[in-house]
Amino acid sequence: MDKEKFFIGKDGLEYCEVCREPVERYIPKYAQDLFGMKTHPRQCACVRMRMEKERQERKEQEHRQEVEKNIKICFPERAMRDWNFTNDDGSNPYMKYAKQYVEHWDEVKKKGMGMLLWGDVGTGKSYMAACIANALLEQEKRVLMTNFTTISNGVFAAIDKNDYIEAVCGYDLLILDDLGSERNSGFVVESVFSVLDRRVCSGKPMIITTNLTVREMRETQNLDYKRIYDRVLGSCQPICIKGESHRREKENQNKRAFEQIFREEESE
Ligand SMILES: [Zn+2]
Repeated sequence: MDKEKFFIGKDGLEYCEVCREPVERYIPKYAQDLFGMKTHPRQCACVRMRMEKERQERKEQEHRQEVEKNIKICFPERAMRDWNFTNDDGSNPYMKYAKQYVEHWDEVKKKGMGMLLWGDVGTGKSYMAACIANALLEQEKRVLMTNFTTISNGVFAAIDKNDYIEAVCGYDLLILDDLGSERNSGFVVESVFSVLDRRVCSGKPMIITTNLTVREMRETQNLDYKRIYDRVLGSCQPICIKGESHRREKENQNKRAFEQIFREEESE
């Protein structure tokens, strides 16, 4: 914006040429002697607008810094930072549940409502969970997307195990990705149980993804895991994610593209 130019108005005050507002105002007569002057400065609309714009920019910058910081903490893999609703190709009909989860976040949080996304490998469950994470992170919520190994490493490395469990419990949303994909025992399972148990007791929501079926979780004979699955099933609404494996679909696409090229070459 150009530097404001001024003119003297009929009332003898100085005015801004751009917005035509006075840039000074009279001091009441009785106080003029006290201040030793007749007028004092005021901000015209141009100055107010400029200050408001600067305030907005500062706010936006602070928001971005906060979001970026939390994004770095949230995801175990860098690629997950780009798994969001905008980048979604729309091929997963269950994505609507992820969107609704975010839309109803206040209620979800209040009631500690979790989701158990279960179904075959490669149906986009982790992608859905990461979309929810990214959308909430954008709202400056604190989210942690983690897995068995990371949790047990965290507990193992912590000076005080309870401090670590409390820290994980501090997140607005905890996402435990790929539950039951590894066969663990003892310390690892115990660590994950402690975290989930603390989480459930404090009424804070979790999202779990797993390739297991609900039935497998209910009927497991492994007592270590049974405690974990009981916590999960007791606090997370199961949603079965069916459909063509996205990975398989991608493989088929590659195969078709490959065949296309080679057929073309044969006919040349
Ligand atoms: Zn002005």
